[in-house]
Amino acid sequence: MPATPALQITDLVKRYPTGVEALKGVSLDIGEGEFFGLLGPNGAGKSTLIHCTTGLAQPTSGDIRVFGHDAVHHYEQARAAVGLAPQEVNLDWFLTVEETLDYHGGYFGMPKRERRERAKELLAEFSLTEKRNDRTRTLSGGMKRRLILARALMHRPRLLILDEPTAGVDVELRLELWHYVQRINREGTTILLTTHYLEEAEQLCDHVAFINEGQVVAQGSSPELAAQFGVRSLEDAYLELVGRKELSRARAEADAA
Ligand code: ADP
Ligand code: MG
Repeated sequence: MPATPALQITDLVKRYPTGVEALKGVSLDIGEGEFFGLLGPNGAGKSTLIHCTTGLAQPTSGDIRVFGHDAVHHYEQARAAVGLAPQEVNLDWFLTVEETLDYHGGYFGMPKRERRERAKELLAEFSLTEKRNDRTRTLSGGMKRRLILARALMHRPRLLILDEPTAGVDVELRLELWHYVQRINREGTTILLTTHYLEEAEQLCDHVAFINEGQVVAQGSSPELAAQFGVRSLEDAYLELVGRKELSRARAEADAA
């Protein structure tokens, strides 16, 4: 029997009340243990897909399963298996750093002692221990990003979803974050990542799906995608896809030579 996918999306359609059709029948499978990249231009529908998966948006039609659990109609088990670091910083400004983690654990039914231990471990991991009694609104941008990631991991999700986690963060934090995420991926956590950094996606992701105007337009490993578009890198495949191949760095270098 084939293993249950970590995430299985079938014919997902999302029409917002404004009439915008953000997803026009998307299907994709993410295997357990995979590091999966969802790439596409702004407005392609990446966050909408993630919001439908995590219960933040109601799909118009289609089916979403997280480790086999229906994420729309029986979302409790699906939600417990997912940790989300959303694109928009959505911290409660009146809570301290430690309370943020503790409340999140409480929401997922973790006993007090386990919450305390897990929070301590994550605060240390993300260099937030000294800030644990500070209110979230006083944190720097990078610290807020760290806390959002720690919060996503608090209940030990089997599927971690990172929606542009490194947009606007400094280089050190970006590298630190990738090291950490690669480690937990090696230890078994499935990762769904959206990012604008194509070189990083190429290094990190086993499998990539390109999404454009609400549709998955290509997918495969980075080498497969490059071959499909007749180019050498994931970035160039992306530029071909969005019709901007004149921006290719490989072409610029070839022209200069
Ligand atoms: P991405 O994350 O790939 O940049 P989004 O999923 O945020 O794309 O957006 C996809 C499309 O849906 C865009 O046209 C966007 O304007 C629209 N959209 C996103 N959220 C909403 C919303 N809450 N109400 C109406 N339209 C929305
Ligand atoms: Mg987005």
